[in-house]
Amino acid sequence: MKNVEQDKKPSRKRTGTANQARQVTSAMTKRLYIETVGCQMNMLDSELVVASLRHEGYELVATPDLADTILYNTCSVRQHAEDKIYSALGRIKDLKRQHPEKIIGVLGCMAQKDQRRIIKRAPQVDLVVGPGQLHQIPRLLNEIASGGGRKIEVSLSRLSGSREKIEQSFESYDPLRDPRMRPSPYQAFVRIMIGCDKFCTYCIVPSVRGPEQSRAPRHIESEVRQLADEGCREVTLLGQTVNSYRHRENSRDVRLADLLYRLHAIEGIDRIKFVTNYPRDMSDELLEAVRDLPKCSPYLHVPVQSGSNRILRRMKRGYTVEEYREMYCRIHATVPGAAVTSDFIVGFCGETESDFEQTVALVRESRFKNSFIFKYSTRPGTKGAERFEDDVPDVVKRRRNNELLEIQNAISEEDNQPLVGRSFEVLVEGPSKTSLRQPETGPVLQLVGRTLCDRIVVFDGTQRQIGRIIPVRIDEANAHTLFGSMVTRHVGPEVYTLNVPD
Ligand code: SAM
Ligand code: SF4
Repeated sequence: MKNVEQDKKPSRKRTGTANQARQVTSAMTKRLYIETVGCQMNMLDSELVVASLRHEGYELVATPDLADTILYNTCSVRQHAEDKIYSALGRIKDLKRQHPEKIIGVLGCMAQKDQRRIIKRAPQVDLVVGPGQLHQIPRLLNEIASGGGRKIEVSLSRLSGSREKIEQSFESYDPLRDPRMRPSPYQAFVRIMIGCDKFCTYCIVPSVRGPEQSRAPRHIESEVRQLADEGCREVTLLGQTVNSYRHRENSRDVRLADLLYRLHAIEGIDRIKFVTNYPRDMSDELLEAVRDLPKCSPYLHVPVQSGSNRILRRMKRGYTVEEYREMYCRIHATVPGAAVTSDFIVGFCGETESDFEQTVALVRESRFKNSFIFKYSTRPGTKGAERFEDDVPDVVKRRRNNELLEIQNAISEEDNQPLVGRSFEVLVEGPSKTSLRQPETGPVLQLVGRTLCDRIVVFDGTQRQIGRIIPVRIDEANAHTLFGSMVTRHVGPEVYTLNVPD
């Protein structure tokens, strides 16, 4: 059951004018502008929305003024992400006034969270679609274009019915793939589950992305096979808690470790990554699969969020620092050389200097490859917002954020130094940002790629190497990037020896 709402009161005058203009544009190619904020799930959702609209004859354009349809795929994990979208909507208000036939849509997490409130705040919006309803977009756009008025299509809220009904209202959206929409056609995200049932007290994701549901392994396998046929070499499996993956098949549970074995067998796929891991679900079977499967990346993103047990309890993360530490040691004991990364929230409700110092100590001790650090942003509708006061002043949050970042960066830089002089297999993604900014100067191009452990490598190469896995020797390293040169194979003189008979 879908929570389908229609706005019954579109302005007649505006709709009339808009419809005439829309009928003219619909005879031509339809032009789409899409902007995406947020996580990898959102990037994947945008890729899929664009693929389905391309199928309907849309072409992508670079700016809103060139478009007939302007879509914002949104995030609501932090207030800042929402503010960005409301500012963008503000910027196109005049454009909509001058061209009422343009259709403006808000998709994704903010659409599910704010629903009709988006239209109250930004009446220029014609379409609001939650992340569980993205498959409806082509139909909804057609209906708006033919005068059907505004559309709001969202899933059920987590408290509004049986689990089964709520699950059904969030559909995993995994139809066509479009390599042209990906930063690199050789890499792709593949959703293996949707939603989350962990309900960390700070987090809006379980409300806006719905209950945790794992996709059937055979659907995932066939999608990965299709990606391999299209030339994709690396897949990153996505889930909010990806290592909680569980799907019942032939009366037995298929877990992430089993899925990795099945995907590993697909020809053409050379690398498999997966994000994001939940510390409590890091099983030995999964770590052994990572160790034993050569295509599987030993890169593990396992956010700890805080180094203080008091704060972890308030966050309802479901583990203690000691349990996290035990899991962390198990990772390194089972998968030597694994690259472990984390997320941290600083300034969560009630976080004292002493709590923060414990987080600092954990960062120093763990030596993560990298950490993403966020200032706590209160999210209306979460238990955190209901139960606790957001009492850490912003200036303190900022200071803690900078301090932790500085410590982490120093560790990352230090730990990258021993990599200098070593060679790594790098999957070449494309020209580096610097190279893209420069006019073409010749056949040599600065390229960017990643090691199996997800380290970014920049080196000089040629266009022909894009999409290949090649050896690169590291010459220099900073906290986030390794700089190297291609390893050219030495061709020995024996190749040229003429076999002259005595
Ligand atoms: N599912 C993942 C997990 O459990 O780690 C993370 C999903 S969330 C989109 C990504 C990160 O955003 C989290 O790990 C957390 O550090 C951060 N985050 C989530 N809610 C937040 C909030 N209200 N304020 C600040 N950061 C937040
Ligand atoms: Fe949010 Fe926690 Fe679920 Fe991650 S595990 S998505 S942080 S509720």
